[in-house]
Amino acid sequence: MGQARAPDDFFLTDALDAEIARAGRAVAQADHVVGLTGAGLSVESGIPPFRGPGGLWTRYGEPPMDGYQRFLRDPAQAWRDRLNPKAPWAKALGETLAAAKPNSGHCALAGLERIGHCDALITQNIDDLHGQAGQQNLLEIHGNHFLLRCTECMTRFRQNEFQIDPDDLPPRCPECDGIVKGDTVHFGEPIPPDVLKRCYDEVGRADCMIVAGTSATVYPAAEFPLQVLRNGGVVIEVNPEASELTPVASISLRGPGGAVLERLMHHTQRASQEAGA
Ligand SMILES: [Zn+2]
Repeated sequence: MGQARAPDDFFLTDALDAEIARAGRAVAQADHVVGLTGAGLSVESGIPPFRGPGGLWTRYGEPPMDGYQRFLRDPAQAWRDRLNPKAPWAKALGETLAAAKPNSGHCALAGLERIGHCDALITQNIDDLHGQAGQQNLLEIHGNHFLLRCTECMTRFRQNEFQIDPDDLPPRCPECDGIVKGDTVHFGEPIPPDVLKRCYDEVGRADCMIVAGTSATVYPAAEFPLQVLRNGGVVIEVNPEASELTPVASISLRGPGGAVLERLMHHTQRASQEAGA
């Protein structure tokens, strides 16, 4: 019946698998499924969280809390720092992100989208791993490390395809001549309004939300699962540990994100096939 389990799936008890199967039926039955992910999902790809023990900022120092104000004050200097990072945290972040690859969790969410059971994915991660896994309708609320964004017209550009003249900084938008900055949202910078609006549209339609690798305590992500619950929808939490979301979640799946999401994809596909049979 079920897919054979690898011997290292020790976390997958019968009780947990039954809960994942229940979650899979909820996903298969929903009309509009939205995913919400955070740093926990990328830990299995070798990207440490920013804060906490072993965190990038804990080890290498924090970026300036007024990063956006600094950029606005002197965009040329901010660009020189970006092109030639001296801050240890910026170097470590760049090297870590360049080496990271999507894991089974990213692939399972992209797989759910392919079979028609993940209509949009909102992520707080800047690491590009959902995109690399093939996710199409992706809303990166904190931006993407590998993209640039025009501060005027919001057009995004891949940094490696964008001509930057180090003697003529900051770079200007070829569409509107606006100042171009990195797409990653700095401290003190508002979430880009185009992305935020699409998030509210998707969440407003959602009758099922899969929250993975985040306790969703920070605005605006914190509002999304609560809104789905208010709309009468189902919230499925995937996290190795209990979180602030656990008491309100409809279903809480306790285990490593990659393996649980892979199993969720399997059960969703099965429930969907049974419903169609
Ligand atoms: Zn522009």
